[in-house]
Amino acid sequence: MIFTDMLLAPADPILGLNDAFNADPRQDKVNLGVGIYKTDAGLTPVLSSVKKAEALLLAEEKTKNYLGIEGVKAYNAAVQALLFGPSHKVIQDKRVVTAQAPGGTGSLRIAAEFLVRQTKTRHVWVSNPTWANHQNIFETAGLICKEYRYYDAASHDLDFDAMLDDLSKANAGDLVLLHACCHNPSGIDLNLSQWQQVASLCLDKGLVPFLDFAYQGFGAGIEEDAAGLRVLADTVPELIVANSFSKNFGLYNERIGAVTLVAQDEDTAVRSFSQIKKTIRATYSNPPAHGGLIVSTILANPELRQEWESELTQMRERIAKMRLLFVERLKQAGVTQDFSFISRQTGMFSFSGLNKEQVMRLREEFGIYIVGSGRISVAGMTTNNMDKICQAIAQVL
Ligand code: PMP
Repeated sequence: MIFTDMLLAPADPILGLNDAFNADPRQDKVNLGVGIYKTDAGLTPVLSSVKKAEALLLAEEKTKNYLGIEGVKAYNAAVQALLFGPSHKVIQDKRVVTAQAPGGTGSLRIAAEFLVRQTKTRHVWVSNPTWANHQNIFETAGLICKEYRYYDAASHDLDFDAMLDDLSKANAGDLVLLHACCHNPSGIDLNLSQWQQVASLCLDKGLVPFLDFAYQGFGAGIEEDAAGLRVLADTVPELIVANSFSKNFGLYNERIGAVTLVAQDEDTAVRSFSQIKKTIRATYSNPPAHGGLIVSTILANPELRQEWESELTQMRERIAKMRLLFVERLKQAGVTQDFSFISRQTGMFSFSGLNKEQVMRLREEFGIYIVGSGRISVAGMTTNNMDKICQAIAQVL
């Protein structure tokens, strides 16, 4: 017997919260936990551009034959154009390679497996705080996580000096995990000058940027959100990107993302790609097709692309509106504490500053679900639930 002494694993801090939310019978419960975009009606519908692409695919599909190990080639080229801009030098110089992978998580895991098996690097520096799954993914693959300071709780802002100070202790060849935009969980990003300083530090010390790009288009715009990544690509010889289309295409359950590697020259990129493919072959052989075909269909079709861009703009603008409304309604509910930092942050998440006890009271007394760290998914707020949220927060503060 091999299962008898099995230990029960703890529930995932974010997805476990979802289970508790689903089991809650209260009609007016509010889920501000998991990062899923909701419309003002509280729904997560399929984007219209996605529905149209799927109709085209259904009509035109001729086979369910396997994809190559690296996935849909047109998709991989489209990902590179979206990340770097279509005429970036790394693309022209053929220093960049991309493999389709299942979501941001699958992309991070394939990247980590490849790095552990095929390079001498072992340490990855992650921000404190970071997305709850980063450490889990990296350590499961065999990387060792180290933390750099990022968030200053007192000012609700970036502690950039502390970040640089910690990264200056990293050794050549160490990886630096950076959120390309819409930092999860803090909602605080680097500005352009800070990206340039991080890029210089990486170049000087031989650190390798490892970008997690899960929210392109949710911050300031598709191009604007890639600015930091492009500064790095302009500066350092090597980097790696794990990107996801779960949020910006609303393709959560299609599991679509990609691993992208920039090497110092074309030959190194080709050899590295062969090892990334070997990692994929040993993991799931080749990726599922549907998500990659949807994204590449939309990005290659000018009308669908325009529709997607406008749907993405609507999502981004609705979240920004909710941030402003949240700050305003908290004031109206009698909260005197300054929450204006929420309106300066971007993306789906903000750190509310609420403590564990307040988070528990919101859940038990009001049916409002927030992650224990106080991270709020602003994308779950609507004009309908805002007063309930703000009045409840006023009571637990
Ligand atoms: N990275 C970050 C920072 C995320 O917030 C998420 C999703 N919550 C992911 C990666 C994973 O994305 P996916 O759902 O596509 O695996």
